[in-house]
Amino acid sequence: MSEFTGGDALFYPIASGSSGNAIFVRCGTVSFLVDCGVSMRRVKCALSEIGEDIAGLSFILVTHAHVDHTKCVGAMACRYHLPIYASRGTWDIVRSDIRVSRVPEEYQREFDASPEIDGLPDAVRISAFSTPHDVPDSVGYRIEYAGRAAAVATDLGYVSLDVKAALYGADVVLLESNHDLDMLSSGPYPAFLKKRVAGNRGHLSNLAAGRFAAELAARGTRQIVLGHISDKNNTPALALETVERELSRAGIDPRRDLRLCLARREEPSDVLVW
Ligand SMILES: [Zn+2]
Ligand SMILES: [Zn+2]
Repeated sequence: MSEFTGGDALFYPIASGSSGNAIFVRCGTVSFLVDCGVSMRRVKCALSEIGEDIAGLSFILVTHAHVDHTKCVGAMACRYHLPIYASRGTWDIVRSDIRVSRVPEEYQREFDASPEIDGLPDAVRISAFSTPHDVPDSVGYRIEYAGRAAAVATDLGYVSLDVKAALYGADVVLLESNHDLDMLSSGPYPAFLKKRVAGNRGHLSNLAAGRFAAELAARGTRQIVLGHISDKNNTPALALETVERELSRAGIDPRRDLRLCLARREEPSDVLVW
């Protein structure tokens, strides 16, 4: 946590990857989570490490219906009376997924295009965008606050036009850098799973993340967090190295022109001020 210097807009990945995802975001007086696929206890501990109170959260945004993103939304809703915002297709699955703690109806908020969040200050705007992934109605989020923007884009098979449009110009981006193409093809996954991960509705490779990171950096993004890094088909060092190489290839200095860091799988990452 040594890099934390305070500020009224924070972006703090608590966990990222197939064993659980949760990102804490603060915009002035409003704080919330994007996804909650880890336990309430882990969220609480992670927030207390940076002096934030779990009871201060206002809501949770859910990206899609996979359990690594949804597991504890019901428990959080009940304990802290949090509305849970998710797309229609996501709710269709979450409501009947027995692995997900049940979300009482009073906390369910369903949206078609973008969430309309109760009581959100005018300075904060949140929009959802479609992501190409193998579950219906999967989305990412762009969060705008006081003229700046942060975005979350994980679990995407490729960088679609929707994703580009939503991420261009964002100051902070959590971008998936899931697998190394060689490690995936020579790794332990069965053939059907390799195909799924590498497919257009699977997960983003380091190479694709690197190429897109260069596009983002050229359009003003100054902080990129690489996330949803596979523990079987990737290493954090390889993700970083590949993305740095692609940035350099595009004429961007990965150490001077932007801040590039990693979202850890099992523990909280650095807090970014944006
Ligand atoms: Zn996931
Ligand atoms: Zn997923």
